[in-house]
Amino acid sequence: MRSLLPYLQQFKYAKTSLIIGVILMITGLAASIGLMTVSGWFLSATAIAGAGTLFNFFYPSASVRGLAIGRTAARYAEKIVTHDATFRILAKLRVTVFSKIIPLSPAVLNRYRNSDLLNRLVADVDTLDSLYLRLVAPFMSAVIVIALMTLALSFFHLPLALFIGFTLLILLLIIPTIFYRLGTKFGQPLTQSRQQYRSQFVEFIQAQAELLLFNAEDKLKTQLNDTETQWQNYQQRESNLSGLSTALVLFANGLLLALTLWFAAAADFGSDTYKAAFIGLFTFAALAAFEILMPIGAAFLHIGQVIASAQNVTEIMEQHPLVQFNDTESAVDFSKILFDIQNLSFHYPERQDMALNQLNVQIPAQSKVAILGKTGSGKSTLLQLLVRNYNPTQGTIQLGNKPISAYTETALREHIGFLTQRVHVFSDSLRQNLQIANKTTLSDERMINVLNAVGLNKLLADEKGLDQWLGDGGRPLSGGEQRRLGLARILLNDAPILLLDEPTEGLDRETERQVLQLILQHAENKTLIMVTHRLTAIEQFDQILVVDHAELVEQGEFTQLIQKETGYFKELYGRI
Ligand code: ATP
Ligand code: MG
Repeated sequence: MRSLLPYLQQFKYAKTSLIIGVILMITGLAASIGLMTVSGWFLSATAIAGAGTLFNFFYPSASVRGLAIGRTAARYAEKIVTHDATFRILAKLRVTVFSKIIPLSPAVLNRYRNSDLLNRLVADVDTLDSLYLRLVAPFMSAVIVIALMTLALSFFHLPLALFIGFTLLILLLIIPTIFYRLGTKFGQPLTQSRQQYRSQFVEFIQAQAELLLFNAEDKLKTQLNDTETQWQNYQQRESNLSGLSTALVLFANGLLLALTLWFAAAADFGSDTYKAAFIGLFTFAALAAFEILMPIGAAFLHIGQVIASAQNVTEIMEQHPLVQFNDTESAVDFSKILFDIQNLSFHYPERQDMALNQLNVQIPAQSKVAILGKTGSGKSTLLQLLVRNYNPTQGTIQLGNKPISAYTETALREHIGFLTQRVHVFSDSLRQNLQIANKTTLSDERMINVLNAVGLNKLLADEKGLDQWLGDGGRPLSGGEQRRLGLARILLNDAPILLLDEPTEGLDRETERQVLQLILQHAENKTLIMVTHRLTAIEQFDQILVVDHAELVEQGEFTQLIQKETGYFKELYGRI
């Protein structure tokens, strides 16, 4: 139950609406019970009075009409007010969750599957709407309506009124307790299997091509079916229990009705003529009172899922980003030595082995640095550390004359243009896919020039030009085209430091040469650090770093490395 506290606190954002909602709920319930009670009395009384006697049927019939209209109006208004308030709270909650998730990228978010994150943000947050709509508001209204009803009935017969009131109150305490216990038992597994099913389903769809090619579709389908069956079993158990709760409430209702009838028959109402009418009044009141309890059982059955969802959302909200950025703005210092890397060691949080071990490098401002090395040696990791996606395990990285941790996130991002190894194509227009590279609005002319330069002029042949849709739901790009798009972004980026992770991977030799010339031209007055597997134009770099098994094994100018007797670089150069 405690896990619900933070979400109950969210109610403060729509306090007034929520209070009005409860008042309307009470009004609706009271009108409904009043309607039944007055009708019960009115029908019996007119029957007793018979035709021809003097009987004021105007007031009762007017109240019946009034209460009926009142009930409908109150319920309608209540639904609007409570749903509006709930959705406002959920919208706020979703924004809060989202803004907590973003700083977790990339280090902490890597631990979650995409579908899991989406599930938490959408399905789990949605489930929390029950908290107010189905739990808090109906329970609060029930307590108040029972008190009001008892008070109203006490004018006619105090002991009978107290009997009905207390019975309802006791049921109001017993029913939620029973169903809360039953509900918490399978709320967690039900929420989990729902999540599991969704994750598996998304994966099943995304991996269709591979599954078909390797003939593995059936295996995953069986797995998916098993999860679905399990999920359905839990749902079935929930439905059974929900039916049980209705049955239980109806049974209690019948019992209370019979007892009320029994006691009312023996009671003294002060008027013998209209005694039957009072009996009618009390029995109908007892009958109608169950409208208060009906939704409570099923709602508390649902609480297990609400708690499980709350825990899911809380779990992600409580994650701390691995990297905390400085908040106070300070200008980026471009001294002679731009990056000064001292004794740098690093291992990924979830791994023990070193990804980088004892690195010492100095990168002068405006120099061009190439990083070479076998696959898995730690090249990309080094770039990740330079943009501070992770903090070093040991050692320091200085940017300018300050530790990299002294800069705000904005300052770092603004000054470093980073082309990652995998280029992400947004499912958006070509224009927007390029525009993300620069804070200022880019002119069409500049975009077109760059697209031509990187060899993506083919895209411009489309009649929609820059407005054509790329990625999902639009034009898919080949691996090489994606690289070029990434490159176009870099050429449109005005950052003075460029980190490029294998920008020419997957390009043919001729294109690679052209692209490299473009990069070097663009980076003429910038600092360029580029990871590559190839040696094209390598002699144009000021410094070459060779990383092997997490260590910096060679470092120097092209002419220095080439003169060495042995070494990775020499070997690679010789081979090519
Ligand atoms: P490649 O040339 O194939 O791109 P690389 O030199 O860029 O290789 P890195 O990506 O830096 O290699 O990886 C270095 C080591 O760190 C590898 O063993 C890799 O498995 C591991 N690694 C990389 N990224 C992560 C991550 N996010 N979490 C855990 N380990 C990682
Ligand atoms: Mg890499």
